[in-house]
Amino acid sequence: MYTTLKSVLEEASELNMAIGAFNTHNLEMVQAIVKAANNQRTPVIIQTSEGTAKYVGMRTLVAVCKSLAEEYGVNVDLHLDHAKNWDNIREAVDAGFGSVMFDGSALPFKENILGTRRVVEYAHAAGASVEAELGTVGGTEDGVAVASDAVRLTDPAQAVEFIDKTDIDALAVAIGTNHGQYKSKTNINFDVLKSIYEVAQRPLVIHGGTGVSDNDIHRVIDLGIRKFNVGTELLVQWNRKSKELYDSNKENTSNRNNVMPALDVVQEVVEHKISLFKNI
Ligand SMILES: [Zn+2]
Repeated sequence: MYTTLKSVLEEASELNMAIGAFNTHNLEMVQAIVKAANNQRTPVIIQTSEGTAKYVGMRTLVAVCKSLAEEYGVNVDLHLDHAKNWDNIREAVDAGFGSVMFDGSALPFKENILGTRRVVEYAHAAGASVEAELGTVGGTEDGVAVASDAVRLTDPAQAVEFIDKTDIDALAVAIGTNHGQYKSKTNINFDVLKSIYEVAQRPLVIHGGTGVSDNDIHRVIDLGIRKFNVGTELLVQWNRKSKELYDSNKENTSNRNNVMPALDVVQEVVEHKISLFKNI
């Protein structure tokens, strides 16, 4: 069924696993992601940037996710990723997104609390869940780069205070991962993650998940990571395959002949990631 972030992460906590949160960049990818979750028999989180949500249309995204959740019998949460704009957040909640992430990570601590509280109040009243971020994840997100000297790991004591004062449903932590990293693997700070896990009473979220090695995936899940974001790898695989097809197919071929094989590749990556996130 079409559901919320809170609900799928509760299931993940119960089973000591993580739910994959896959960034889609268009409508077609949504289908590949839901099919992968169906084959793996797990819930799934479909997420989009504010830019993609505007491009596809928020109500259209909700309608397609609801329809696919029903068709495949998969628990699907539709999530707005890294939202900073209050109007976009309200539009997503009003359109029926199951959750939103308020990204106040670049703000001073108290400003982040205030901004997050406002989003929580609005979203919870509509039955939607909220993720927020404390600390700064490195790398490049939707074309915006974070300078390496601006990266701050999450402070465990602040995490407790933040959760207490905002009542968020999930906390994104900065533990050394980078957005957009796919050519190398991340050095995760497990000590920081462990300290957060021991005191924070909420599901934790990892961003920049593409750069996390397969072995480390199990280690971070055992330390409370319940939502695992994967974006770059899907994009890279889709772009590589489509480039090859657009170059080799005739220019009057049906567009689906260029798109469907790229979707198969995306589905394969998603299935592989989900199989690791089950933490078996
Ligand atoms: Zn992120």
